[in-house]
Amino acid sequence: MSAVPRDLALVLQATEFAARKHRNQRRKDREASPYINHPITLASILLNEGAVDDPKVLAAALLHDTIEDTETTYDELKGQFGVLIADMVMEVTDVKWLHKDARKRLQVSRAARSTRGAKLVKLADKIANLRDMIAHPPDGWSLERKREYFDWAKSVVDQIRNTNARLERRFDRVYRQRP
Ligand code: NDP
Ligand code: ZN
Repeated sequence: MSAVPRDLALVLQATEFAARKHRNQRRKDREASPYINHPITLASILLNEGAVDDPKVLAAALLHDTIEDTETTYDELKGQFGVLIADMVMEVTDVKWLHKDARKRLQVSRAARSTRGAKLVKLADKIANLRDMIAHPPDGWSLERKREYFDWAKSVVDQIRNTNARLERRFDRVYRQRP
């Protein structure tokens, strides 16, 4: 097999794995959209808007919420996708046992020390979530809570500037729509 189909196979394998793991989950929007739409959107933002075509980063984006939101373990990802991808996913996984506010603060303080791949996934995640927050917001969130979310997302992105100018511009564009 040439290099390109092998890359495609990896990305498809990650899509299939994430779809299976998230199969019973929904987003928080009123329509309760299928959760898998979100990781697929991240991969699409990276490739189509950030010109990121590293298949390992695209696979990590597809898998980015599996440890945090499903019973998937680090070892399982390592076994199926290798240590590089498993590490990237681990880097973007929040520490579950911390209180929500501490978790959010830790994401800000850890961001600058992340690897480049993890930073790219984080950027795409924040772009996708802010766009969702505008077009398909979580049901029942007050204006105040949405604003706090926008500001927190910006404080994470401000720690990882100079990673991918296109993605940072996309983030700034959606941030300007802060409700
Ligand atoms: P959560 O982390 O619980 O919810 C946001 C996350 O939900 C996103 O990061 C995203 O994570 C996921 N998500 C699922 N569906 C959507 C969607 N449709 N649109 C966007 N994101 C979606 O947020 P918190 O409860 O921690 O609240 C954020 C901030 O608000 C905190 O700073 C908190 O302190 C504050 N807060 C304010 C309240 C208020 O009334 N003012 C009340 C409670 C909290 P993923 O990418 O992992 O899917
Ligand atoms: Zn996410």
